Order: sequence, then C-alpha cells, then structure tokens
Amino acid sequence: MKFFRKKPNHGITFLRKFLRKISHSHLFGESYRRINTTEQLVALTFDDGPSEPYTNNLLEVLERHQVKATFFMIGKNIEEYPDIAKAVLAQKHEVGNHSYSHTSLVFKSPSFVRAEIEKTDLLLQNIGVRGEIYFRSPFGAQLFSVPWVLLDKKKKNILFNIVAGDWHTQDADIITQRVINQIKPGAIILLHDGGKGSRFGTVKATDIIIRELKKRGFKFATISQLLAHSAR
Ligand SMILES: [Zn+2]
Repeated sequence: MKFFRKKPNHGITFLRKFLRKISHSHLFGESYRRINTTEQLVALTFDDGPSEPYTNNLLEVLERHQVKATFFMIGKNIEEYPDIAKAVLAQKHEVGNHSYSHTSLVFKSPSFVRAEIEKTDLLLQNIGVRGEIYFRSPFGAQLFSVPWVLLDKKKKNILFNIVAGDWHTQDADIITQRVINQIKPGAIILLHDGGKGSRFGTVKATDIIIRELKKRGFKFATISQLLAHSAR
C-alpha cells in the first residue's frame, strides 16, 4: 500500500536543524560543549570542588606535568575551603562558576538562577578572580531560566563533550580509557575534584590521561585558551 509507505519526515529534520541553529546562536546565550578546531588542543575541567584532599592532590599532578586546567567551583565549597580555592588560582589555573548550591536549575525561577550565579561570582571575585567568569550549570542543564539569565548576564555556559562517569566509578583505568577513547581536537573533558565519595581514582586517572594524551601529541588549554582557538 503506497499510501502507508514511510516517507522521510522533513518536518522533524527541519526542526532538528532549527534547534541546532538556535542553540548555537546568541538567542539563548552562548553555550559550548567543545571547540571547533583542528589543533590538537583539549581542556581538562574539574567540577564540584574545592574539596579536601582531592583538589590539592590534583594541583600536585597538574604542577608535575606543567598543565593548566579549569576548575568549576561550587559557591558553598568556596566558603568552606577558601584557601584551597586560592591555591588553585595561585597556580594559574582558570576558575569558573558552578552555581552556589549545586541544585538542578531546570525548574527554578530566573531570580533563583540569578542569585545562584551572582553569589558565586562574588565569592570568586573575593578570592581574586578577575575578568570574565564562565558558568557551568549543575548537571549540564540548559533549559528554561538558565539560558535566559545567562543571555541577560552575557555569560557563557561551558559544558563538555567527554564524560568519564567518574561519579559512578573511581576505577582509574576505566576513567582513563573512557577519556582516551573519545578524545578529539577541541574536546572539553569533564572530571570531578569534589562531590560524594572518594576522588582518588580521578586523581590517578588525571595523571595517566595527561601522559597518554601528551604522547599522542595533544596539548592542554584552559577554557579561555581553547575559546581563543575556536573556528566557529
Ligand atoms: Zn557538578
């Protein structure tokens, strides 16, 4: 029966293209999962800190390899560990805003989202962060209030395209393999220096990931350095 033959759904294709286009436009603020570049450049990012002892452990690993990373910090944790937050800055890593309380912002009002961002920006400025502060929404949320508030504040939402699932497993070999298997130029790698449970596996994996990626010719950049290479 010809009538029932399935035809390609051009409406859906159009909608998908349209959504992709507006998500890359300034209409909803700028958000990045990766950077469009052919250079062998990637960014290591650490979320949910500062925490004890993992942030300091990571700082030692990064220092040993002479690699700069980006830490998306939770406001409440900056209040708890201001000296660790300052140590991250002192080692010239980049520091971003990962909200104040790390609750999901999807169904929150714009004023709640705004307060979460502004409180944490202020804490970051108080420990010496200057210039543009990037935001990473908790759980990667980018719906409803979040994009509107970010657009209004002209703030970039920095997401990620390489997830190692280090909040599920702390097996350093698994974390390492997941990162290595997915690596591409311009990648933004998500790891955690805070959150529930141990992060020793993440610390150990970071050491191996840096060694392995350097062997493959990759260089490490902070988010602003990576954005400066964006061909988009
Ligand atoms: Zn987080």
